[in-house]
Amino acid sequence: MHFETLAIHDGQAPDPQTGSVTVPIYQTSTFAREQLEYKGGFVYSRIGNPTRQALEEALALLENGRYGLAFASGAAATMAALHLLRPGDHIVSGIDIYGGTYRIFEELLRPMGITTSYAEGSTTQSYLDACTPETRVIWVESPSNPLMRLADIRALAQAAHERGMLLAVDNTFLSPYFQRPLECGADIVIHSTTKYLAGHSDVLGGAVITNEEKLHATVKTYQAAAGAVPAPWDCWLVMRGLKTLKVRMKEHEANAMQLARFLESHPAVKRVLYPGLSSHPQHILAKSQMSGFGGMLTIEMKGGMEAVRKLISGVKLFLLADSLGGVESLIASPARMTLWALSPEERMKRGCSEGLVRISVGLEHPDDLQADLEQAIEGCG
Ligand SMILES: *Cc1c(COP(=O)(O)O)cnc(C)c1O
Repeated sequence: MHFETLAIHDGQAPDPQTGSVTVPIYQTSTFAREQLEYKGGFVYSRIGNPTRQALEEALALLENGRYGLAFASGAAATMAALHLLRPGDHIVSGIDIYGGTYRIFEELLRPMGITTSYAEGSTTQSYLDACTPETRVIWVESPSNPLMRLADIRALAQAAHERGMLLAVDNTFLSPYFQRPLECGADIVIHSTTKYLAGHSDVLGGAVITNEEKLHATVKTYQAAAGAVPAPWDCWLVMRGLKTLKVRMKEHEANAMQLARFLESHPAVKRVLYPGLSSHPQHILAKSQMSGFGGMLTIEMKGGMEAVRKLISGVKLFLLADSLGGVESLIASPARMTLWALSPEERMKRGCSEGLVRISVGLEHPDDLQADLEQAIEGCG
């Protein structure tokens, strides 16, 4: 069946008791048992809740995976997936990753004896060069944040497996509509469902999806024990988002493509980083592992931070905000906002200059968005 059909039907059969076409919000902390002996079924909402279970099934199906687990945020999902590691283990991560994930690696895991090295480039070899005999997981974001670099998921999965390592992919930027890492051989997919999957900037959530029963069991135990589970109402909101994922992603992409082309031709803009442009250094890889290019793009202003300030204060439709993937267009300065956790030296090492601007292209009319950027960018030269 096609993606949009699955998104509307799977894990979301009408309620057997009432026929309700949406999954009910089971707003309960506990479930009455019929007898003392446990005979299956729900017992307590941290361990399992029917609304959450429906979301978990739907998320797994959309990623073409066997098992899905939902969390209270993307960060909680990241922590849960990394619970597969033990002190002494080593992670190799892309250098250009979500700031909060970097903070987990450096401030939460490193003091516990789980260390992370960062691949210097985006080639498969640069990931392998950073591996040690203790490396258990390669962690990538593709496209990365904010430089929109891609990792070759098929090649990395194969190389990781040859060395007995796992490949984890944070698929937040593209959503399973445009990229399904498990199909390319990845072992674990992580999402901040806060972004495109929920899609309306009104809820926090995360997910871990895998095909491997043992990985799933370990993360599920962590979920039940550590307890960073989403509320039933939040699960319902994410599920509602999933049903329109396809139509939203297509529009996000069409709008992003128009803005990317416009910005690429603008004299105040030094470069546009968008995998859908043929000028993107990994455009061919993008076409081979993604079925679309998504709604995120990053530009570098010729005029550095001063131009960034002018642009950001000049736009009227784009909201100055962290986050992404909602219906409204957002604009952000990676140097000042999303990469807050990094020192200026760390940011420079990653190629994140002060002139970068990250744009989450929303669902407004693209001509309105273009006109807004055009008037704001004037005089930014
Ligand atoms: C937002 C985000 C996260 C963290 O998710 P939260 O829901 O904010 O906890 C992780 N990875 C990426 C790529 C993100 O954009």
